[in-house]
Amino acid sequence: MMSNTTKDNPKAVPAVKAIQVHKAFGDLHVLKGVDMTVEPGSVTVILGPSGSGKSTLLRLINQLETLTGGEIDVDGEMIGYKYVEKNGQRVLQTLNDKEVAAQRAKLGMVFQRFNLFPHMTALENVMEAPVHVQHMGKQEAKELAIHELERVGLGERLDYYPSQLSGGQQQRVAIARALAMKPEIMLFDEPTSALDPELVGEVLNVMLGLARDGMTMIVVTHEIGFAREVADQIVFMDGGVVVEQGGPEIIDNPTEPRFKDFLQHVL
Ligand code: ADP
Ligand code: MG
Repeated sequence: MMSNTTKDNPKAVPAVKAIQVHKAFGDLHVLKGVDMTVEPGSVTVILGPSGSGKSTLLRLINQLETLTGGEIDVDGEMIGYKYVEKNGQRVLQTLNDKEVAAQRAKLGMVFQRFNLFPHMTALENVMEAPVHVQHMGKQEAKELAIHELERVGLGERLDYYPSQLSGGQQQRVAIARALAMKPEIMLFDEPTSALDPELVGEVLNVMLGLARDGMTMIVVTHEIGFAREVADQIVFMDGGVVVEQGGPEIIDNPTEPRFKDFLQHVL
């Protein structure tokens, strides 16, 4: 673990800190030393061409993949490992399933594909994890689910099945489902890429609302308008490294040729 102080708030521990993160799948070296710091309550937008390693980075943060080098801290705690004393020496030990689950509970994730349970209503989809993972009582879970569905503007659609909802509505149910687990940090992996263009705005609006409520968010998206308006930090990745990062103003003033080139293709 590195420093636990930041410039703006001397007491704040970064929500996420990636330090020289490497990931290889066999011979394929996908991440080649990624550094990224995400402050609590901030929005980081990750941009980059297909195959640059954006999803892999999110999946590492959420422990859906394991690192092959470097370190990721979530909320000041190294993920996946801890130091223990062995014969007078500090050695790294992998966390057990319960410890990993406790770390993962801090994160909510929303994917391009919503993956709702087709045989459950919107309400039942959102209640599912609180009841079956957190062992919350049904009545409490129901009230929580209604609250989260209202938050994403679906208070009138509680009893609809996924097949009766638009793609944008289904994605909003998926966001409510993640929020019901009370995450400290939300990860979004191209949440609007599978949607018809006219449905993108309603999902981005929900995300904007979350950002305004102070949620810590890491968002992989090609929606440059959203990035410009909502992001506190832009991270541009290409070829498994961070090529350029900075405030949202870098979108209109890119320095690196590869970032310039990327922006010309998405704008
Ligand atoms: P992005 O999200 O930026 O499009 P990804 O992180 O999905 O990029 O993928 C980066 C590279 O890693 C791609 O070449 C992809 O094929 C490869 N990759 C991703 N996941 C796996 C995996 N589980 N096994 C092998 N290769 C993978
Ligand atoms: Mg991806």
